[in-house]
Amino acid sequence: MKLIVATKNKDKFKEIKEILKGLRVSIISLNDLEKKFHIIENGKTFQENAFKKALAVSKHYKDSYILGEDSGLEVNYLNGAPGIYAKRYAGPKATYKSNNKKLLRSLQGVPYKRRQAAFRCCLVLVCNKELVKVFEGKLRGRVYDQARGENGFGYDPVFYLTHYKKTVAELRSSIKNKISHRAKAFKKLRSYLENKKS
Ligand code: IMP
Repeated sequence: MKLIVATKNKDKFKEIKEILKGLRVSIISLNDLEKKFHIIENGKTFQENAFKKALAVSKHYKDSYILGEDSGLEVNYLNGAPGIYAKRYAGPKATYKSNNKKLLRSLQGVPYKRRQAAFRCCLVLVCNKELVKVFEGKLRGRVYDQARGENGFGYDPVFYLTHYKKTVAELRSSIKNKISHRAKAFKKLRSYLENKKS
């Protein structure tokens, strides 16, 4: 079986491949396809955006399973922002670094106990333009008061896990890929695909 993951984000795709290791499915991303996609993410929820990504690809790949993935960071103190806008939080030309800088600035002076946040991941599996199933995962933590660590991507350097006393960027990738929002959602997808085949 072949699964097309509707993402161009190489950091995400690297994690996805690691998380799905051992599953007897060949996994490819939009970067591996000849056809080039420019998908507008203008949905109002993670699920809408994930579905849009998968649907756009599904129109061109009959009988293939397409997986839309949308993820982001919700910060309680900011009423859920940046949420679905996580990628462009600091503006149209945002980078991981400028997003983190803006986030830290938005929470300047806010005490640790009021810095709760969650990473969320939504997966939508589509085949022949029809929604097959939705899988979700969440990782709760706090926004730290500075960036720390070199691993991972995006907001990982500022997302602190009390249990580990580390930011996600200070964790080994093998640990992140067991506990993350993405790992949780993909675990559900994995068991769905394993049971479906038997
Ligand atoms: P999108 O799903 O491509 O719209 O982008 C999601 C954005 O959320 C990314 O660009 C990152 O900034 C952030 N994000 C998603 N997953 C993670 C993660 O595992 N760690 C850190 N940041 C993440």
